[in-house]
Amino acid sequence: MPFTPSPNIAQLKESATIAVSARARALKAAGRQVIDLGAGEPDFDTPAFIRQAAQRAIEAGATRYTATEGILPLREAIAAHANAVYRGSDPVRPADIVVSTGSKQSLFNACFVLFGADDEVLVPTPGWTSYYEMVALAKAVPVPVFGARSRGLKVTAAELAAAATPRTRGVMLNSPCNPTGAVYSAEELRDILALAADRGWWVISDEIYLHIAYDAPATSVLSLVQDRERLIVINGVAKSYAMTGWRIGWAIAPRAVAAAMTALQSHTTSNPAAVSQHAAVAALTDTPAAQAAITEMVRQFKMRRDAAMTVLDAAGVQYVRPEGAFYLYINVGGDGAAFATRLLDSAGIAVVPGSAFLTPEWVRVSYAAPIEHVVEGVQRLVAAL
Ligand code: GLU
Repeated sequence: MPFTPSPNIAQLKESATIAVSARARALKAAGRQVIDLGAGEPDFDTPAFIRQAAQRAIEAGATRYTATEGILPLREAIAAHANAVYRGSDPVRPADIVVSTGSKQSLFNACFVLFGADDEVLVPTPGWTSYYEMVALAKAVPVPVFGARSRGLKVTAAELAAAATPRTRGVMLNSPCNPTGAVYSAEELRDILALAADRGWWVISDEIYLHIAYDAPATSVLSLVQDRERLIVINGVAKSYAMTGWRIGWAIAPRAVAAAMTALQSHTTSNPAAVSQHAAVAALTDTPAAQAAITEMVRQFKMRRDAAMTVLDAAGVQYVRPEGAFYLYINVGGDGAAFATRLLDSAGIAVVPGSAFLTPEWVRVSYAAPIEHVVEGVQRLVAAL
């Protein structure tokens, strides 16, 4: 009997960001020369002080289950980072934090416990591909709200208000933004937070690229609010500390929401890997070493960004000027998916088609790759255009 997918996943599409990297890897394994500018993954090794902390933790016995929500020292470290910017009346406590197997799981758990059948969730678009799927897996309706080109494809509070209906329950924020690299200013975020508070919406703020900003520091919504009653902040160690494979992300949420997310996780994956949690403690508490590592990685990302922009500017290509994250979002003036396929097949450059982010005339280039690959990749892309 053929497999008939359950209605739970009838609409589900495979993650395009993951699929592009898998295809690039497969082509490389088959002997093709491929420059992978698809993967949204730092190409740096995890800093040595973090790897060493993990080795010590294994030898000290970090090989068993932990609390579902994560070990206390990690949740204390996350709370300390949050309270360094949050000045509200209810400081973040470890009980407000759930550590998961990557920020992706935290985002999914948040959507699943907050939203349900027919709820609408506003997703500033282009937005990361998995937001739409996660909201839909919670049986809610993702409502794309398109940002204007003149504002780096960012959305305004007025645009969100115009897209809202009586069924709107939440809004998904992501600054610095994947796929555009756009960074929302404190004022832009304040306007959106004020609208959400006024309407009683949940705000999920995905801040995974917060520390990767070039022209000015990016703003955490935690620094802008006085209470966290309807706010879930998502972060993790993957991008800032080059720890993608360790799979550690977290949610900072109102206590009851955190408890619900823990209950959900207790039936699905339980705790994230014990040794990875100890590695994350080192990342968050050895501040001088972490700061030095982040500063160096951001310096290299910035050099790559600037080199890529020089090539694009010289060719007059249209793109969003990235102020954070490590992506360039390029307008190809036609079918981005066909362009991405052609670019991979004929020029050996892997990029992610903009259709994954609901904006099909664009492609996403990741510059989390050696600078010579970035420059050559962007040159070939320009030639293909
Ligand atoms: N978030 C990264 C990206 O957009 C990693 C892959 C994924 O999980 O989607 O490429």
